[in-house]
Amino acid sequence: MSALHLVHWSVHLDSSVLNRRCPRCDLVRAHTFSGRARLNANGRHLDAWLLYTCAHCSRTAKVPVLERAPVRSVDRALLLGLESNDPAVLGPLCARLVGGDAFSVRGDDLPSGGVVVLHVAAGLSVRLDRVLARGLGCSRAEVSRRCPDAPLRRSAADGQRVRVLPRACNETTRSDGVVPAYGTSRSPR
Ligand SMILES: [Zn+2]
Repeated sequence: MSALHLVHWSVHLDSSVLNRRCPRCDLVRAHTFSGRARLNANGRHLDAWLLYTCAHCSRTAKVPVLERAPVRSVDRALLLGLESNDPAVLGPLCARLVGGDAFSVRGDDLPSGGVVVLHVAAGLSVRLDRVLARGLGCSRAEVSRRCPDAPLRRSAADGQRVRVLPRACNETTRSDGVVPAYGTSRSPR
């Protein structure tokens, strides 16, 4: 038996990546925040969107943060921040959109099994199975099959090593045909 393949993954806080369906790709894709918002005033109502870019096809996605909001009800600091693309205002809006998914995993793929060494950002608490699902680009059910001896329900720990078994024959491709790209955030399924 050859030596176990070893890869390093870094896990860090990241609210700039949103996993959503891309109409052009017709798949759930990682979308990266562009740093920009768009506002539209329609009479006394305001619509506002954050602009994201599909990491695969570069299509721009408009994600609503205000929908037909009465102008008077909109906080002035929020309005100014949306108009000026102020990161201090847009950052928390991104974090709210992303919710508990505000982390990303970067590192090499591990299609044929081996050992993952995790480098977890300080202060970040994410369950190990969610980290592995994103990093491997698979479901948490598949994670539990491929990582039978890992404490999957505990938080991922810095420096933790996890043994990952190769994909079973019926798991060689994801049903949506996505091959996780190196260095990008992967969508949990
Ligand atoms: Zn796309």
